[in-house]
Amino acid sequence: MKNVPNLFGSKVFNDTVMREKLPRDVYKALKKTMSHGAHLELDIANVVASAMKDWAVEQGATHFTHWFHPMTGFTAEKHESFIEPDGNGGAIMAFSGKALVRGEPDASSFPSGGLRATFEARGYTVWDVTSYAFIKDDTLCIPTAFCSYSGEALDKKTPLLRSMEALDKQALRVLRLFGNTTATRVMSKVGAEQEYFLIDKEAFLKRPDLVFTGRTLFGARPPKSQELDDHYYGCIKPKVSAFMKELDEELWKLGVFAKTKHNEVSPAQHEFAPIYATAHVATDQNQLTMEMMKFVADRHGLACLLHEKPFAGVNGSGKHNNWSLSTDTDVNLLEPGRTPHENAQFLLFLVAVIKAVDDYQELLRASAASAGNDHRLGANEAPPAIVSMFLGDELTEILESLEKGVDYHGKEKQAMEIGVTVLPHFPRDTTDRNRTSPFAFTGNKFEFRMPGSTFSIAGPNTVLNTIIADVLEKFADTLEASSNFTSGLASLIKDTFKAHKRIVFNGNNYSDEWVVEAQKRGLSNLKTTVDALPESVSEKNLNLFTRHNVFTESEILSRYEIYLEAYCKTVHIEALTMVDMVKGEIIPACVGYQNDLAQLLKCKKECGGYSTALEDQLLLKASDLSSRLFEKLTALEGSIIEHKGDGDFLSHAAFFRDKTLSAMNELRLIVDELEALVAKKHWRLPKYADMLYSVI
Ligand code: ADP
Ligand code: MG
Repeated sequence: MKNVPNLFGSKVFNDTVMREKLPRDVYKALKKTMSHGAHLELDIANVVASAMKDWAVEQGATHFTHWFHPMTGFTAEKHESFIEPDGNGGAIMAFSGKALVRGEPDASSFPSGGLRATFEARGYTVWDVTSYAFIKDDTLCIPTAFCSYSGEALDKKTPLLRSMEALDKQALRVLRLFGNTTATRVMSKVGAEQEYFLIDKEAFLKRPDLVFTGRTLFGARPPKSQELDDHYYGCIKPKVSAFMKELDEELWKLGVFAKTKHNEVSPAQHEFAPIYATAHVATDQNQLTMEMMKFVADRHGLACLLHEKPFAGVNGSGKHNNWSLSTDTDVNLLEPGRTPHENAQFLLFLVAVIKAVDDYQELLRASAASAGNDHRLGANEAPPAIVSMFLGDELTEILESLEKGVDYHGKEKQAMEIGVTVLPHFPRDTTDRNRTSPFAFTGNKFEFRMPGSTFSIAGPNTVLNTIIADVLEKFADTLEASSNFTSGLASLIKDTFKAHKRIVFNGNNYSDEWVVEAQKRGLSNLKTTVDALPESVSEKNLNLFTRHNVFTESEILSRYEIYLEAYCKTVHIEALTMVDMVKGEIIPACVGYQNDLAQLLKCKKECGGYSTALEDQLLLKASDLSSRLFEKLTALEGSIIEHKGDGDFLSHAAFFRDKTLSAMNELRLIVDELEALVAKKHWRLPKYADMLYSVI
């Protein structure tokens, strides 16, 4: 058996290594920068760089890279070797503080939404001291933020760090009002559950749609899919288990607390979850996890699919973003407390989240918007596109009693006096789950279930942190101005719940009645990415982000453009892939099949005396479907050509959604019908059953 504690973090330049490898004063200076953002002098950086390099070389590393999160949603790295001439024709391994702290990748091909064109072509990477460096593939990876010459963020990390600062500032103000003098920081903690599919690599490589777009653009329903619910939490197949074991080990080495693994609802679908970490570290680690999943799968002859909807008709994959707020003294502010005082504080943070989710529901929805996730949200397996919150019956009753000013009767029906000073102790209730809710309170954290499985969690957490910082700021203003803290607090909790309780919904989010009810409550229902994204640049939201210094206006506008463009490009690539596959695979299959039938028909007719009913009917059906196929193919091709317009990305995106995607859907219906008809020997593409049950 592996010695897991020894393995854990063995590829990370973590606190233990730093303590061991750095001189005491350097270690202290670095820690100060890590915890309080103090400026790091170059001479200190030089010592750290040298120690990092020695440690990395000992581990077999030859290169280093500034590892960053460009707007593609993936991570980027440009490797440089430690090698330098020694002056005598030989080589030494060197790494300077300057190279550690700052890099200048020629990164002009990353999406910048016009930011770099306006300012400078150059982009800079700056060391994120608060996230540990690690070794991957013999390369020392230094987590960095990526920005333009003039300091505009070009990545997903920078705004996340800024949002964490905004949240820290406002949450501390509130804590001080409660008399807390010991906490010096408040951080958001995140645990991202990751869903994914594993299929056989050979089958994967035979499907150009999976290779190019990550999802199957065709595929008839297999005789069996997820209707028996026999895959969920089912026994893990040896091949999958071997993959999961290796993934755990790789991630442990990288300091990721890989914790749970199980089979999901769909055949071939699985889930992974780590132990939660501070939001930006969790973000780095989730990116690493996704990357490792792909690598490790490949080594096992498997392909890992991270797309939100790789297969129609079975569940898609999401990323459940578990979020809480915690002090540096390790107090979870979303944990119901034991004393009335703690409970009052908990209720205040709770109503802050309720208000934030209600006030900024459109922004939260937009943070989970992508072409891939549009196939998932609202598809009766994932949360709907309507944002609401699940609190559970008990918590809802407590807040309702508070609102009405009546006593809360707990489960034992004992009268409990409600008032902020004498709130009852209420037990944490984790049994009460609602899997259909997009935003569920699960005992001591919120689970935001809308983000898609391919997402970087940086975006959703930047939004969460900022909207909650915004509400806490208002709360702190109100309470600071209140002459009586206790009564001010009581009415703040009560009034906030009253004003925002429309967002609380404990029922079935998949039901049609909820859609009607939500509309009555005035909640937004932004069905697609094209509906949701414009919300991110509304006056209100521009204001929010700039006020908290999370984004400048041009940063938000550029991101809006990048996301719309990504949407257009995604659909465009899908449409082109579909056309290619129909021409290269589907039409030849139809022709071959009809040819077989025609030949047989001809022979039978020539010989005479045989019944030709079967061939007649099949040929009729196949030829009819083939001509409809051609018609729909021509329509799709037309919709691709038509879109070439000006630079208005929103109207492009709307075109792709309304015209291209619907042309694709119509074409798919015909192909799927053909797949069910055409003999397997002509249909060379692996079918759903061949992929979903490819791992044995
Ligand atoms: P589930 O039943 O939803 O799978 P788990 O307890 O397994 O719930 O937690 C799922 C994820 O939530 C894990 O990544 C876990 O580390 C994370 N998590 C647990 N507590 C917190 C917390 N206080 N803040 C943020 N994430 C948390
Ligand atoms: Mg969960």
